[in-house]
Amino acid sequence: MRNFTVKSSQREQLLDISHDVQRLVDESNVKEGICLIFVPHTTAAITINEGADSSVAVDLLDKLSDLIPRNQDYKHLEGNADAHIKATLVGSSLALPISNGKLTLGTWQRVFFCEFDGPRVRTVLVQILPASTT
Ligand code: ZN
Repeated sequence: MRNFTVKSSQREQLLDISHDVQRLVDESNVKEGICLIFVPHTTAAITINEGADSSVAVDLLDKLSDLIPRNQDYKHLEGNADAHIKATLVGSSLALPISNGKLTLGTWQRVFFCEFDGPRVRTVLVQILPASTT
């Protein structure tokens, strides 16, 4: 298992971690296989979406906040119930194919760490599984 840290600077933020993940794939020397990315946090998540136009990330965060307001009559009294719900909707892991030593992503796709209760220092875990050669 490999890992790296992500430092968010705002309460809600999408951070492009594609290069951090690719660096671990490079270090593994795995050319064909699967890269499993896991976020071990209950108020953060991971997703893939467009990285070319940064307004896509802003729209995603804005719409999630429309759907899940920060201040409602939640039972969880820590003040971050919205962040827990967003984390579950977006999800805590991704599995990406590795081909020719590269993460397989579409032209406009990037891997985003999703912070919903920052700023914090977070950990991202990465398990790189080589394909069977038989
Ligand atoms: Zn909480």
